[in-house]
Amino acid sequence: MSNENQNTPTPAEQAQQRSDSNSPFLNAPLPEGTPQGQQQSLAQGTNKDQIRKYNLPRGAGHTGNLGETTHFGFRTVSTEEKEQKVAEVFHSVASKYDIMNDLMSFGIHRLWKRFAINMSGVRRGQRVLDIAGGTGDLAKAFSRQVGPTGHVVLSDINESMLNVGRDRLIDAGCTNVDFVLANAETLEPFEDNSFDLVTISFGLRNVTDKDAALEAMYRVLKPGGRLLILEFSKPIFEPFSKLYDLYSFTALPLMGKLVANDSESYKYLAESIRMHPDQRTLKQMMEHAGFQNTDYHNLTGGIVAVHRGFKL
Ligand code: SAM
Repeated sequence: MSNENQNTPTPAEQAQQRSDSNSPFLNAPLPEGTPQGQQQSLAQGTNKDQIRKYNLPRGAGHTGNLGETTHFGFRTVSTEEKEQKVAEVFHSVASKYDIMNDLMSFGIHRLWKRFAINMSGVRRGQRVLDIAGGTGDLAKAFSRQVGPTGHVVLSDINESMLNVGRDRLIDAGCTNVDFVLANAETLEPFEDNSFDLVTISFGLRNVTDKDAALEAMYRVLKPGGRLLILEFSKPIFEPFSKLYDLYSFTALPLMGKLVANDSESYKYLAESIRMHPDQRTLKQMMEHAGFQNTDYHNLTGGIVAVHRGFKL
């Protein structure tokens, strides 16, 4: 998000402007019966009729107090600034997100996601919530697995990312998916005990108040339901760690610059991975939020881990 020329909007600002001016989420009438009366019904009279979408006002549901600080990558910022900067990152990268994922991980992110999907144990007829679901890789797979009698919600705080995911899943014929703008910290639109499976893939490290998010995930899960967290973690083999650092802090921003014209967002990606809690800490945080029978599986030497926990 370099801002060398103050008159030229940054990629994030351009994406935000596009998102605002085209937004199907704005100026829609309030539907009856939605929680807190804050959501807006959309896509009426289009071929997307079966799909309900909602909007939360920007910043709604943030749990941090004014004046509190946190980290944005390696920088210390106020909690409000972090939320805004994370939003800028994903507005900026949304249109190039999928191709960048393939390039940066050499396609391996697909295998990591496949592993998590296989651990989900999801069955036909079940209800699944994918939080911070972005462009919808997981939601698309779950849509097939739960079938026409099941239901999937693809949820994200960022409208640019959710727009890409919505278009992709509609094009893929996923008619059992809803698209919901929601902050992971509160999951305000969702009722208690309403999902068999909750997932969050490469999303948790971007969330400011992770403890609040884990508590919200626990709240919306049905008793007997499970949470899966797929996230970058701490490599277990030290020499590998050095090589990985070199790759992350040089190649990722360079690829970001070349492909998405945005090196800063990919610098943030590398830094945010280093700041994320390691495997054991995240497991403890899940237990603190109430999850039981928690475990984790390291993938690719701990570059990524899948954490699992149950609401009993
Ligand atoms: N889950 C997708 C995947 O695995 O490809 C997208 C992951 S992308 C790296 C991270 C996503 O987290 C972005 O779409 C971003 O908008 C979302 N996000 C960041 N903070 C969030 C929050 N507080 N609540 C919900 N989503 C959030």
